Amino acid sequence: MNDIKFNDLGLNNEILKSIDAMGFEEPSQIQAEVIPVLLAGNDAIGQAQTGTGKTLAFGAPILNMLDTSIKAVKAIILTPTRELAIQVNDEIARIAKFSRVKLLPVYGGQPIDRQIRALRSGIDIVVGTPGRILDLIRRNVLHLENIQFLVLDEADEMLNMGFIDDIEEIIKNSN
Ligand code: AMP
Repeated sequence: MNDIKFNDLGLNNEILKSIDAMGFEEPSQIQAEVIPVLLAGNDAIGQAQTGTGKTLAFGAPILNMLDTSIKAVKAIILTPTRELAIQVNDEIARIAKFSRVKLLPVYGGQPIDRQIRALRSGIDIVVGTPGRILDLIRRNVLHLENIQFLVLDEADEMLNMGFIDDIEEIIKNSN
């Protein structure tokens, strides 16, 4: 047990309110360690068992730092599977409950037209699998000029699945 409280980490009130509404009483170890590092503007690599709160560890600081005055996609979160994309999207949407941020999960197997229409409606954070994200970039519907944050969730798993070329191309497009 550590004595660090969510209030100590530098998160804004909207996010603290959602965390409270989610019923979380104290930050997990990876949250306590990673959130201040990200809020200070650093990059981070985190390694922790599944179910230890990694999503909030990167999701809360991104929401905290997102410049919502810019109407464009500002964060991309890559996940190895469609299930994880949905799960991460839902978790971050819960953390964003009191913030004005729009998220969109994108993955293969779902009609791309719907995702294109949704993207055009103004999305702040896209969560998706590398292949579909790349497809949307190549179709010129997902623009990366304003990207502030790129997350590789379960990076080891994505590399095992052979997504390295897709990820490298996405990174190349992001700067
Ligand atoms: P994750 O590792 O991000 O998949 O999170 C695993 C589960 O733990 C999810 O259901 C989260 O909503 C929950 N969770 C995340 N952070 C905390 C926390 N600080 N206290 C209790 N539960 C949490």
